[in-house]
Amino acid sequence: MLTVQDIAASIEAWAPRWTAWEQDNVGLQIGNRRRRVRRVGVALEVTPEVVEEALRKRWDLIVTHHPVFFRPPRSITTDHAIGAMALRLAEHRIAVYAAHTNLDFAPNGVSVTLAQVLGLHDIRFLAPLRGQLQKLAVFVPSGHEGPIIDALAAAGAGIIGEYSHCTFRTPGTGTFKASVNARPFIGARGQMESADEVRLEAVVPKALADAAIERVRSVHPYDEVAYDLIPLDTPDANHGMGAMGTLPRSMSLRAFVASVGRRLKSGAVRFAGSPAMRVRRIAVCGGSGSDLIGDAIRAGADAFVTADVKYHAFHGLPAGFGLIDAGHGETEQVILRPLAEFLRRSAATRRQHIHVDVSRVPTNPVQSL
Ligand SMILES: [Zn+2]
Repeated sequence: MLTVQDIAASIEAWAPRWTAWEQDNVGLQIGNRRRRVRRVGVALEVTPEVVEEALRKRWDLIVTHHPVFFRPPRSITTDHAIGAMALRLAEHRIAVYAAHTNLDFAPNGVSVTLAQVLGLHDIRFLAPLRGQLQKLAVFVPSGHEGPIIDALAAAGAGIIGEYSHCTFRTPGTGTFKASVNARPFIGARGQMESADEVRLEAVVPKALADAAIERVRSVHPYDEVAYDLIPLDTPDANHGMGAMGTLPRSMSLRAFVASVGRRLKSGAVRFAGSPAMRVRRIAVCGGSGSDLIGDAIRAGADAFVTADVKYHAFHGLPAGFGLIDAGHGETEQVILRPLAEFLRRSAATRRQHIHVDVSRVPTNPVQSL
């Protein structure tokens, strides 16, 4: 049996909440974490039509990309559209969970999936997240490193790309003099001691550092654990904004824009740049990615595919750079199938079965002729 919380935990193992933008509102939006889930719907957002679909298809949980509440509501009543929707969901015990910017920034998240759908190869993050990592260095008596490494790994420390349990150790000598109130693991109270120790270090996401230190404390032999927590400017290899990749062969910007329109089923793709110029290195960002135009140019992209590009942003682009606005919903809906597949797979790895539907209700209000 899987609960709402089990599904939330598996999504957060893929797209941790700490990676989301501070102003974002991700996680469980409506519902009871302990309720059993048999049927799940996946949608870009919840609209009244999606709620009706949920009732028809007997979904217990809707997993969305866009949050239901962007600002804290002052009331939840039928006087307002969102309140009415929230009440209807609550009355029918349908939970809503949102994975928004954390899913944008995740490995195989929105932007990486968009890059795949556009046929790019050698995909990497366009702008890896910065300022999220710290270095945790723990001083451990020699021979006691094993349980500390396990504790660090269990707390989410020491993960670099596809590698976990990444640590580095340097041997040295620790000195200490225990007070009369201490319970020294080595030596006696009131005596100067020295011990062979190891400085064991690992990267840890800032948001997980306190919990990692608590875990280390619980298995460390010393009653007082010495550690350093150091801010890092190292980019996070596991999470980033936008994606960058290469087309199998160069093509004209005109042909690439047409291919974007076809692959994303986008009726109105707007772009700036010479239609005849050749493009091969492509940057992408699902949804509103205008803030990354500079990153795309600096990364040497020939073109950047995103959405919600303002008129003035199309001005003053460097020669040989194409900027393409393929629509917000169009560049994000690519994640729905992989998200549904992820939910099925993660249930299966726990030997559970859940039924997962991708919503068939169009929620994108933007049309084109
Ligand atoms: Zn969006």
